[in-house]
Amino acid sequence: MIQSLFPTLRAGFRGDLFRPALIEASGAVLSYADLLARSGAMAAALLARGLKAGDRIVVQTSKSVDALLLYLAALRAGIVYVPLNPAHTRAELDYFLEDAEPGLFVDDAELARLAAAPVADFAEPALGPDDLAAILYTSGTTGRSKGALLSQGNLASNAATLIREWRFTEADRLIHALPIFHVHGLFVATHCVIGSGAAMLWQPGFDADAIVRALPDASVLMGVPTFYTRLLAKDGLTPDLCGNMRLFVSGSAPLSAETHREWQARTGHRILERYGMTETGMLSSNPYDGDRRAGSVGPPLPGVAIRIAGADADGVGGIEVKGPNVTRGYWRNAEKTAEAFTADGWFETGDLGRFDGDGYLWIVGRAKDLIISGGFNVYPAEVEAAIEVLDGVAEVAVIGAPHPDFGEGVVAVVVPRAGAEVSPHAVSDALRETLAAYKRPKTVLIRDALPRNAMGKVEKAVLRRELASAFD
Ligand code: ATP
Ligand code: MG
Repeated sequence: MIQSLFPTLRAGFRGDLFRPALIEASGAVLSYADLLARSGAMAAALLARGLKAGDRIVVQTSKSVDALLLYLAALRAGIVYVPLNPAHTRAELDYFLEDAEPGLFVDDAELARLAAAPVADFAEPALGPDDLAAILYTSGTTGRSKGALLSQGNLASNAATLIREWRFTEADRLIHALPIFHVHGLFVATHCVIGSGAAMLWQPGFDADAIVRALPDASVLMGVPTFYTRLLAKDGLTPDLCGNMRLFVSGSAPLSAETHREWQARTGHRILERYGMTETGMLSSNPYDGDRRAGSVGPPLPGVAIRIAGADADGVGGIEVKGPNVTRGYWRNAEKTAEAFTADGWFETGDLGRFDGDGYLWIVGRAKDLIISGGFNVYPAEVEAAIEVLDGVAEVAVIGAPHPDFGEGVVAVVVPRAGAEVSPHAVSDALRETLAAYKRPKTVLIRDALPRNAMGKVEKAVLRRELASAFD
């Protein structure tokens, strides 16, 4: 039965309430009793401001324990939580405020006031699975961010599935270094911990050294691929250091097979890659027990249906999904909502992929990133995978740029490893053996870095704009 979120997280609030829920690097500990009392006080403070269930609060603060408590407070009070990336400028913020029309805007100063509220009685309203819990803006990787409507039931069903599939228990210690304005850090990481009565080792942001220091005491790390590539650049990453670790999870962007292999060689652990999005929560996951395939995002999670629409001869087509985890649509955007669903009610992810013979899903990229060169489909991920394994290559992004003969021409932007020399010529030469001519880059550019957003996703739209006249 699908219920609202807070009851789904009840494991944390059962039994010995004085066990740790959150441990800061300073050693400061917040117990489950503290979580309850302090989020209850904040909920009372929100209600005292005149907010009521169904109202929205827009929250743009730095990552802090108080911000997490405010999220719990809003959940318990039925107030719709709308978190924003603190990096947004004033002008960007104005767009979100106008769009979300909140009853209260919470910045760091306002958060400090709410957190100072004295403990007060708070009558928890009864919430149902269809009540709105949050509006989460998408990462804006392909265009302007859209506010995905997430109900209590959407979040609850996904939390219960992940806790089961990834075997969370009270004994777990999860390193929480992700931002908390995004689905990955706000929902996936915190729900898995609280919903199993485990503890998080709280970090204010990503710092490779701080993670290395925390690893011996931890059992789980959730990260984006850039976490893993940056950690691999550190000395001292050994199987010994990861002796208590049982699970490394990666998601939000594609993890290269190269990083997957290097991680295993250095730590003895195979990263578990999963696939999800703001609008749907988690959709697929490599198995906890069994074969984790580098480059695949694994089979659909229980309860989630995934189909491939309009598949080509290789079985590649649009990834469409259905399940209790899927959004009912976008906030005040009937047009985008209508566009996102098929006539028979499937949500179109905008990603392209295929299933292999064993039911594992392989993502080949976003539909918007597909390159059509001389009438042939070129999937950037395939070209990127062929370049990533070349000597001296740290990372690469492949895009299409307008081309006078071919419609679009393939462009590769390559970042060499520190100290390595990579020549465009050597890249082109090496690809002669691995890629058909139409897939090979017509130009290879060497750069120091790729443009990435807060979740470490390559901003291909930025590259496309910059390189629009690459073939002029
Ligand atoms: P916007 O929708 O605003 O353009 P976004 O799609 O990047 O931004 P998110 O909801 O944060 O916003 O990201 C979801 C997307 O991230 C997925 O649709 C998919 O393209 C990508 N993604 C997530 N996990 C993986 C993964 N393991 N491998 C490849 N891609 C992934
Ligand atoms: Mg998206």
